[in-house]
Amino acid sequence: MIRTAVTISVGDELLAGETLDTHGRHLAATLAARGCRVLEHRVEGDDADAIAAAIRDAANRVGLVVITGGLGPTLDDVSRDAVAHAMRSPLVEDAAARRDLEAWYAGRRRPMPGGNLRQALRPDAAICLANPNGTAPGLQGRIGDTEIVVLPGPPREMHPMFERVLESLPLATPRPMIVVRASGIGESDAASLIESMMERDNDLPVATTVSQGVLSARIRGRDERDRGRIETMASTIESAWRPFVFGRGDVTLAEAVGFELSRADLTLATAESCTGGMIGGAITDVAGSSAWYRGGWVTYENRRKIEDLGVDPSVIERDGAVSKAVVAAMAVGAAKRAGADLGIATSGIAGPDGGSADKPVGTVWIAVSHAGDVEARCFRFPGDRGVVRSRTVAMALQMIRFRATGVEASLLWERTEAS
Ligand code: AMP
Ligand code: MG
Repeated sequence: MIRTAVTISVGDELLAGETLDTHGRHLAATLAARGCRVLEHRVEGDDADAIAAAIRDAANRVGLVVITGGLGPTLDDVSRDAVAHAMRSPLVEDAAARRDLEAWYAGRRRPMPGGNLRQALRPDAAICLANPNGTAPGLQGRIGDTEIVVLPGPPREMHPMFERVLESLPLATPRPMIVVRASGIGESDAASLIESMMERDNDLPVATTVSQGVLSARIRGRDERDRGRIETMASTIESAWRPFVFGRGDVTLAEAVGFELSRADLTLATAESCTGGMIGGAITDVAGSSAWYRGGWVTYENRRKIEDLGVDPSVIERDGAVSKAVVAAMAVGAAKRAGADLGIATSGIAGPDGGSADKPVGTVWIAVSHAGDVEARCFRFPGDRGVVRSRTVAMALQMIRFRATGVEASLLWERTEAS
């Protein structure tokens, strides 16, 4: 059974800070779920000697070494040479890999650049891993008892190839895990509601994390026998955090909104000022959202709020664009003009400039209208421009969910006394 691994990301672009190294995270999470701990993650430049040394060093310590990147056709991609060197096995041409390469170019009616034939080379003692999504085959071999796997850099080639490699490796069966997702409740408030479950010396401790306005609770079992217990724990958390829980696993807030709107047979329109289309973006990330999303407006300038949504200019004059009356009129106007049941609107001061004593940076009004009946809430979000905007999106989506399901509850960062 393989229980430990080292992962090595290869590429000068990673060391230069031009590309974010996302492979380390993906590999570590996938391996952790299979009972394999990543002891070290390294980043190496396109330098064959350095990569070979890193592979040999890792092979002495763990059961699995995964290298990503550096399998391209150009001369700066040297992971193939590095593995051959580390395995002390000369490069030979792989007949099947060459046929696949030729077929790839023939299928696209393109001549194969000469240098591409390098991609059909493998260390004599290794095998090629077919790549249905690109030209670079992966490689798999051994140094002593350690499995060495080399995968192409592009994520859409690397991820599926890694999935297939995992099936061939002696790893533990995935540990059962349930993730409960919530939004609009503070992490410490939420934690205190499930205090006894979060103690570190519990045999199945619960861990919470927050990202982009979404709170997640992870409950991990040690093996399948814990499945029943973690299921009970997840239900307990869901009850404790009601009505803020919107789903489990990979579900997004926008998906949860779509689920509730579809169930209630309601449609939605958006009117966005400070979020500039981010709510519409989150919604249209959801496949099938055309069933419940009509469309929306980005009304940044006051004139757009007036002409596109029918907001009364005297109200903007009187209360300012960041006000209860203006977001309410935006929500009603959007729903009416789009022919939707619900309208959601945002207007706020995302910063870093534009704040004042009574409307400091982070002040955001959000309104949701339903059949002409409108409710507006004022939030005071801490954080920089990006954080204020992403929190606004999360709270707006949660307000829609609450409206569609008849929930009345205050949300995190909401100011109850404001007008
Ligand atoms: P390569 O296999 O070196 O030709 O990699 C091709 C492309 O994959 C690079 O230009 C990057 O855009 C991407 N890539 C490679 N390694 C990583 C990584 N660790 N994280 C994210 N993207 C990567
Ligand atoms: Mg590269």
